[in-house]
Amino acid sequence: MAEELTEYQGPATMEKITSLAKRRGFVFQSSEIYGGQNGAWDYGPLGIELKNRIARFWWKEMTQLHDEIVGLDAAILMHPRTWEASGHVENFTDPLVDCKKCKTRFRTDMIPEENLEKKICPECGGELTDMRKFNLMFKTHIGPTEDNAGLIYLRPETAQGIYVNYKNIIQSNRMKIPFGIAQIGKAFRNEIVTKNFIFRTCEFEQMEMQYFVKPGTDVEWFNEWKKRRWAYYEKLGVKTDHLRWHQHGPDELAHYAKDAYDIQYLFPMGWRELEGIHNRTNYDLTRHTEYSGKDLQYIDQDNNNDRYIPFIIETSAGLTRTLLMLLCDAYDEEKVADKGDDDDWRTVLRFHPEVAPVTAALLPLMKKDGLAELALDIRNELKEDFATGYDQAGAIGRRYRRQDEAGTPFCITVDYQSKDDGTVTLRYRDSMEQIRVPRAALAEKIRQEIKGYKRGR
Ligand code: ATP
Repeated sequence: MAEELTEYQGPATMEKITSLAKRRGFVFQSSEIYGGQNGAWDYGPLGIELKNRIARFWWKEMTQLHDEIVGLDAAILMHPRTWEASGHVENFTDPLVDCKKCKTRFRTDMIPEENLEKKICPECGGELTDMRKFNLMFKTHIGPTEDNAGLIYLRPETAQGIYVNYKNIIQSNRMKIPFGIAQIGKAFRNEIVTKNFIFRTCEFEQMEMQYFVKPGTDVEWFNEWKKRRWAYYEKLGVKTDHLRWHQHGPDELAHYAKDAYDIQYLFPMGWRELEGIHNRTNYDLTRHTEYSGKDLQYIDQDNNNDRYIPFIIETSAGLTRTLLMLLCDAYDEEKVADKGDDDDWRTVLRFHPEVAPVTAALLPLMKKDGLAELALDIRNELKEDFATGYDQAGAIGRRYRRQDEAGTPFCITVDYQSKDDGTVTLRYRDSMEQIRVPRAALAEKIRQEIKGYKRGR
């Protein structure tokens, strides 16, 4: 086995990614004109396309390709008892300390042990407060009065929406164990430290799948889902030497978990969690039985009506965090000429074509002589099947660079020959290779290229 990388060595830095994301309209700071809102980000035209495509890729992988997994979209606002039952009211806390002098707030697990012991601020040397527990759930009120009767939480994970619906889904869809429920949606956490761009934010999106299994088969299914989730990242074309497993030690395990592994990715700032695979046992459904008074046992009609509370294997990935990972993973700088100026280098996002925000961009060599009209006509034809772009401004080389930077895998150039013989140039983002393709064969050619895509570097 190849030795594990200890440090990120690629061309990306968080500064470059943040600036490219803003410049090209992937991600903007929330409420920027008011100085920005901490922990919140807005997804621009390229960002929302990328996010939607990642979500679609995950959804297909987790539902369409599994007969026994169905989808759900549960509400963000849930009955507050949910969060008592789940243990979040009591346990979903971070330990924190504040500096009395500079007022900076720290998570205790993020500052050196010595500073904690001596109560010295790692930033300014001022005195630190005693450690206290801070609940990460956002609270708000429902109804006209702001009293405790109307207290409600913004969900800190999407999973509970699945658990409270598990009986509904068994009944409406006649599900038999083992089966899964998948969901993509927003979650909110009052994170104390929100740095590294969109890595850790207060408002984010999760892609979670909860798999309900018979007790005793949970370890086997846990291992199976570990394998499948790793294979998913390979399919996404992510650099596999930038992926690794991290098993939770006893002090890291969540209150509900019997075993947990994270898939970590080597970001420019180091190895960080991307997704968690958890054996949540029967903890959640047992607690919901207790708190709701409803019988949440599964009745196994194929086995003498055996009754049991299923164990749950959870795969929980961040959608917005995956987007950041893909920006870092795709980012490349490549020397393409030797003229001694800025044009010698190109910045390219090597996204898998399945998730690239724009699949094919139409570029007429000239605006005049009917080339623009022809390019727009081809674009109209491809629109039904692909996300297309169009650019007629500036030198063709510059336009290729702009598409490279947006991660567009295919450019289609329309020139004078196109008018004569009906062929166009198909230019590949990764290799910069160009071939001539008859217009009539273009859509099928792109489809094949997407299907057979292998990343070069
Ligand atoms: P961390 O230790 O990073 O706070 P966690 O272990 O609490 O994360 P989980 O509760 O397992 O995270 O959440 C599952 C996934 O949701 C994470 O792997 C991550 O991709 C995503 N996620 C969690 N918290 C955030 C956040 N504040 N911002 C963005 N994504 C998040």
